Amino acid sequence: MKQTLRISRLLAATALACGLLAQGALAQTFDLAILNGRVMDPETMYDAVANVGVKDGRIAAITKDKIEGKESIDATGHVVAPGFIDTHWHSDRPWTNRLALRDGRTTVLDLEIGTHGPYIDQWYKEREGKNQVNYGQAVAHEFARAEALDGFKGAQDLYSAIESRKGAGWCCRKPTLEEGNQILELLDEGLQAGGLGLGSTLGYMRDGVSAREFFELQRLAGRYGRQTGAHFRYTPGNEVTESNGIQELLANAAALDAPALACHFNNPGYNLVHELLVRMRDRGMNVWGEIYPYAAGSTALNAVFLEPEVWVDQLGYKYEETIQDVATGEWYTQKSREEMLKKEPVRAVLVFKMPESAVLDWLRLPGVSLVTDGMPLVPEDGLTWDTPYEKLPNTHPRAAGTYAKALRLARENNIPLMQIVAMSSYNSARPLGKMGLKTMQERGRMQEGMVADITIFDPEKVTDHATYEKGTLPSTGIPHVIVNGQIVVQDSKVLAGVNPGQPIRYEPQKSRFEPLTVENWTQEFYASPVDFGGGVPGDQPRRVGEPSTQPHIH
Ligand SMILES: [Zn+2]
Repeated sequence: MKQTLRISRLLAATALACGLLAQGALAQTFDLAILNGRVMDPETMYDAVANVGVKDGRIAAITKDKIEGKESIDATGHVVAPGFIDTHWHSDRPWTNRLALRDGRTTVLDLEIGTHGPYIDQWYKEREGKNQVNYGQAVAHEFARAEALDGFKGAQDLYSAIESRKGAGWCCRKPTLEEGNQILELLDEGLQAGGLGLGSTLGYMRDGVSAREFFELQRLAGRYGRQTGAHFRYTPGNEVTESNGIQELLANAAALDAPALACHFNNPGYNLVHELLVRMRDRGMNVWGEIYPYAAGSTALNAVFLEPEVWVDQLGYKYEETIQDVATGEWYTQKSREEMLKKEPVRAVLVFKMPESAVLDWLRLPGVSLVTDGMPLVPEDGLTWDTPYEKLPNTHPRAAGTYAKALRLARENNIPLMQIVAMSSYNSARPLGKMGLKTMQERGRMQEGMVADITIFDPEKVTDHATYEKGTLPSTGIPHVIVNGQIVVQDSKVLAGVNPGQPIRYEPQKSRFEPLTVENWTQEFYASPVDFGGGVPGDQPRRVGEPSTQPHIH
């Protein structure tokens, strides 16, 4: 009797609870209801047909129950994925962000070159309420060098490099101790302002940046618990140099216990780079890498690695087979390159360096992030949000087609869809969130309570259209994109004037910069470099009582 009563009470309680839940779900009207889609979450591996209720910019419900919204999207036959996160986007402009949205991207960051430290705050302010996608920048090593060594102060992002790279110091001169401190102080200014770690184009400055300088850079970012991302020293190189480049970044990261990001390691030697990253993550380190899914890269014609001593002598390439003009499609020869360098040193070129088959390899790598490395469109004059896609100046197709291409290749080659969804969102959100970046702890996931950045695509039809000849054609098969709970792409049209993009940024903080001094170095490590360049054996200051270290020549 007693037991029966207890059971019936329990049943009643359960019925009541279920009733309340069902009633609650029914009664609640969401701002937006996304119905009958295949919801995929790379963190929990949730993969099921469900309804998604969005309220106040967040995912409020993921349920099999019937739900209603003030607005609704029928997602039958479509995947409902976390909004795609591109951490390597050099092209934050209204007309290029339109292309990003059509490709499913809800967040675009530049963690490779970034913005000049003193300009970080202004960069974010200029975009408040004006961006269709979420936005953010690392603090730029290259521009700190441009100011300290060339006196160039106006650098903002990769667009500025057209001017700043005319100097001779930024790339090629080793700073004195005083100049080194100035570089670090400029970087610290950006970190204080909430910049997303440090970005370094070290590979373009390989002769000017000493191992000591790069180590100090990583030490500074590490003091804030943030990553240093780098186009590392010898990239693109061969299997040996590429690996040596990443080893510099990762050895410093390990010694300093500082996070690190290997930018676009889709180059010869990628297998070892990947293995190094995996093994370090297994040991609890926050290091990760990114790839873009194209055989060719894109850069400026005067990039140091395109000099004949490197490109031809060291790496064994021929210009006429590998270097193509982005605008005209013409292939360069050593002679025509030299002529163009006199007229337009930073002219955009395509650089063919990998077989197309390698792309499939990269897309199968676990834990790797997918990025675009989308380049600025030049010239910018006359470009507006309304400029038709086909009228935009040509650029490497990765700017427009990366994510749709990855999804298409996955379909054609039986790569699990969850792998590509993870690469496109969670694999970037996770390491950034781990550093305390709140805005990334609540993105890159299809879970209740997360920010409603959502990309809805047709897994059977999604495809890229951008080619090397016409790189600005938008992807298709991604009909709806939602940013911070607001529909920005509807029925494959980017909606004008809808600007829900939010800053991805740390809270402002106090300086953690400590100037480098010979005295401190000597005290801590007994061996002080005489300057920022690394010192000369025999010139090292000695501790009292130590034998002379004057070099002997045998
Ligand atoms: Zn790069």
